[in-house]
Amino acid sequence: MTHWKKTSLLTTVALFMLITSIFYLLNINISIPSSDIDFSPWQEPQKTASDFENEKPENIIIFIVDGLGFGHLSIALQTLQEKDQLSVWQEFEIKGWHDAKSAYGPLTDSEASATAFATGTSSGFGHIGIDQERRNLKNIFEVASENEYATGIVTDSYIWDGTPAGFLVHTRDEDDAREILTQISASNLDLIFGELEDLGEGKVPERDETIEILSRRFHLLDESLQLPQGKKASDPVAVIFDEDEIQDLNSTPNLSKLTDVALEYMTSLNKPFVLLVESEEMDAASHENDSDRVFKGLQSIQHALTQVLNFSKMNGKTLVLFTSDHETGGLAAVADFDRYPKLQMRWTTKDHSAVVVPLFAEGPGAEYFADVNRNWEIGIRLKKLINQKRQQEDN
Ligand SMILES: [Zn+2]
Repeated sequence: MTHWKKTSLLTTVALFMLITSIFYLLNINISIPSSDIDFSPWQEPQKTASDFENEKPENIIIFIVDGLGFGHLSIALQTLQEKDQLSVWQEFEIKGWHDAKSAYGPLTDSEASATAFATGTSSGFGHIGIDQERRNLKNIFEVASENEYATGIVTDSYIWDGTPAGFLVHTRDEDDAREILTQISASNLDLIFGELEDLGEGKVPERDETIEILSRRFHLLDESLQLPQGKKASDPVAVIFDEDEIQDLNSTPNLSKLTDVALEYMTSLNKPFVLLVESEEMDAASHENDSDRVFKGLQSIQHALTQVLNFSKMNGKTLVLFTSDHETGGLAAVADFDRYPKLQMRWTTKDHSAVVVPLFAEGPGAEYFADVNRNWEIGIRLKKLINQKRQQEDN
């Protein structure tokens, strides 16, 4: 080997070792995505679900965590549990998944996903309560009102966000807060607790106008969350908080407190109810790849979900569905052997990912959700359960 060849080989080896040790010291991981793989949708299931024959639920609580996938769930299961005690997620009788797709393909967003859950139809990004041809779709809250259920929404996000809107509203414009709020006030909703955001920006009305719109239907509670008494006790109620006021377990209020008051109110109406509880923390934190915020959000979700399951157990007639609209962040729970058994969160995107997400069910009617594949099948089954209740009573 000539002298110059030897030198350049040594330089290359030295450079390689230098780069490798920098990557090792800084703990940099390079993940190389595979080449493009063709999206090939599997066969659509039959759009009809057979009637549910067993014991039917009186009440239904739908707990949706925006942006949570099995990576987030793994972190919660491996870090938040008391020794020798079941985790709240272990307590669900039915544990499955749904595809979290939209009519456009392998990804979805909160609007399309909530529309699928609430109406039983797969729609496109940003479509709220409408199909791809922009026709209004009947949602489960409308079906519930026809069947004399009370309906309510608790969210740690803003009240016109995609998830609440998908259960109540019909519009193609997810940014038109004024229109969404107007439709919420024109609905039969009995309770809405959540935040306001970006007041006065774009199509978001100022606070005074927001309060005026909501007051057309709701009795607005102050932040003490004292429910109305006497003649007003069954008036529809709303509470609105400022942006990011409801965050983790330490915030006042937190999701658990709001859920608690909502359950007290829904029970006081003495009729069956459908309650949506939404946490947006996983999505907000995962878009930023903010591991600390994810961890705090998981604590808050676990706490509120425990309350919901406890209510279901005590009440005995309440179905609880726990799911997510899509995964955000492509989060993986990993453990390095040199720091074992400590865990780390590793992110692969700042967007929504194309993974399937959890769907758990507990309480009467839970087994009806055991064989769900597509997200819209949840909406079909919920409508059936709510409609069947009336048919059952008519017989
Ligand atoms: Zn998102």
